[in-house]
Amino acid sequence: MPVRAACAAVLVVSLLSSCASKPPVDGAALKTAFAAGDAGGSLRPKDDPKSPVALTPAAWGRLSKIGGLAGREMTVESISDIKLRDKEVVLTFDDGPMPKRTERVLATLDQFGVKASFMMVGEMAKAHPEIAREVVAEGHTIGSHTYAHPDLAHMSYDNAVAEIEKGRKAVEAATGVEADFFRFPYLADSKKLRQWVGSHQMVVMDVQVDSKDYFRDTPAAVATRTMDALRAHRKGIILMHDIHPRTAAMLPALLTQLRSEGYKVVQLKYGKPSTDMLVASTVTKPLAATN
Ligand SMILES: [Zn+2]
Repeated sequence: MPVRAACAAVLVVSLLSSCASKPPVDGAALKTAFAAGDAGGSLRPKDDPKSPVALTPAAWGRLSKIGGLAGREMTVESISDIKLRDKEVVLTFDDGPMPKRTERVLATLDQFGVKASFMMVGEMAKAHPEIAREVVAEGHTIGSHTYAHPDLAHMSYDNAVAEIEKGRKAVEAATGVEADFFRFPYLADSKKLRQWVGSHQMVVMDVQVDSKDYFRDTPAAVATRTMDALRAHRKGIILMHDIHPRTAAMLPALLTQLRSEGYKVVQLKYGKPSTDMLVASTVTKPLAATN
């Protein structure tokens, strides 16, 4: 493999090591952005204390309000309306809200001027309603993720439906807004449950790119794996979790890399699909359901 290709394959990791050939990105910006992953604290990734990166006030100033990554808003009222174009991604964060961790994610999203979808667990939203409301106040999309995060595929149909309904009610009570999107815990669904969700004014949030940020990897490894998976798909819904410190730590590097490669972050909203959507549907294939 040529040196340049090898560097590109480990682009995010490269900020902590050295590549003989310069990767096709602004390495300094990436380095700075990665350091900013811990902007609320030591300005150094918590999961990677060996990182040589530190952020000066001047560098922080240059980093603030990074633009160019925000894409369009897409209104959808069913899963078939989610028609992403090439190089469009949707950012999703599951399992929160969680104090400090969700807030770090929110701060980074604000820095880059992009909106995500937060698929909240009902009991988490109930426990931390102030953070749930902060997510709403920042303009992000709200979805639910059951009440207690069970594996619905191993429950009776009636119990599974009750769990979905309880989760949605808890999230809506905490946030004060409708939670129109739903994600299956462990992506464990069934055709019957998907149909139930779809017929109850909710849109199933599938996943095309799994960051696997629940593995005990370094933040850089998570960002690199996510970019590798995304390059294979070229577009899609990215699954992350706002309960893991490594996710918040790697997010600036991931967003910097997305911007460098020309991706746009689309925000999903519930509603009647716009005309633009219908036009787009003639040139892009619907996303296939996963799991
Ligand atoms: Zn989950």
